[in-house]
Amino acid sequence: MTKELLLWYDNNNFLMPWRINKNPYRIWISEIMLQQTQVKTVIPYYEKWMVKYPTVEILADSNLDDILKSWEGLGYYKRAHNIKKSSEIIQYNLGGSFPKHGELKKLPGIGDYTYSAIMSIAFDEKVPAIDGNVKRVSSRIFEKKFSTLSEIKSLSNELKKYMPNNRPGCFNQAIMDLGREICKPQNPECCKCPIHNNCKALTNESVDQYPVKEERKKTPILDVVVGFIFNDDMDFLITKRPQNKMLGGLWELPGGKKEQKETFKTCLKREIKEELNINIEVQKKIGTVKHSYSHFKIRLHGFMCKIKSGKLKIQAADDYSWIKLNDIENFSFPKATHKIFEKINDKII
Ligand code: SF4
Repeated sequence: MTKELLLWYDNNNFLMPWRINKNPYRIWISEIMLQQTQVKTVIPYYEKWMVKYPTVEILADSNLDDILKSWEGLGYYKRAHNIKKSSEIIQYNLGGSFPKHGELKKLPGIGDYTYSAIMSIAFDEKVPAIDGNVKRVSSRIFEKKFSTLSEIKSLSNELKKYMPNNRPGCFNQAIMDLGREICKPQNPECCKCPIHNNCKALTNESVDQYPVKEERKKTPILDVVVGFIFNDDMDFLITKRPQNKMLGGLWELPGGKKEQKETFKTCLKREIKEELNINIEVQKKIGTVKHSYSHFKIRLHGFMCKIKSGKLKIQAADDYSWIKLNDIENFSFPKATHKIFEKINDKII
């Protein structure tokens, strides 16, 4: 199986900007960006990133707001915070040399998969990197379920037997490529598969039964209400999310989650009072947008507002700013906020 897989990998030569060399910094950034994110989405971000932050040293000395702006739209912003923290550790605690083994594992944001991917691709260490793609392909090849920790450990041992000593990183990348291009979640193209002779599920006609489906939990849906609070100069208020919270360091429209018995308006008035110490008048509705996060979904409702009374004081945010619509580009916002900005644009223009 190893020979066929690597031959297919070499012949198909999926060009990706992080595959031009084995520089661990470049591999690390690519692996973090690729977490939960598709290759085609990552490529333009990665290319711009490497122009702006070509080395760990430059990254460590860069401003977090600029880094978040470069990350804007890629989602899972904790990754950007972890990259920044890690670059400082590498540069200032480890003398600028990229860590391996235990030191690599200790960096924030490095889980088992990312550790194995970096160690195998950048340092030729024989460690299988097991992500969702690899689990799916393997479950079909071996006709087994790989979901518990002990099942994944046994998969790692199994894959090690097939890993070549000289090209462990290519082996890992070949399985990932196979999962992305051929052994897809739905309708795998077994007739094009380089290892179909080794696939137990294909032999036993059980491909549609693997991977074994886990019972899915229902995703909660939250209603979040935000205000577009204008002053007389037609500037509106934005607030900066606390660093230690989800989407930390990004800017947003002030507001928050609606409690069960609240109306949108009472919720918004309460949230703004708690967050900014002001009383507002809630005016017309701007619109509603939907957005999905990994463990929940939101319906984001936007309203035009005006300050009625009170002295503005930030109480549950890191900062605030009055901006105009064409200043939006100068700040980093979550995707959901950009969606509501589009609604506001439609109403105002
Ligand atoms: S033969 Fe089909 S099911 Fe088996 S690994 Fe290849 S693509 Fe996946």
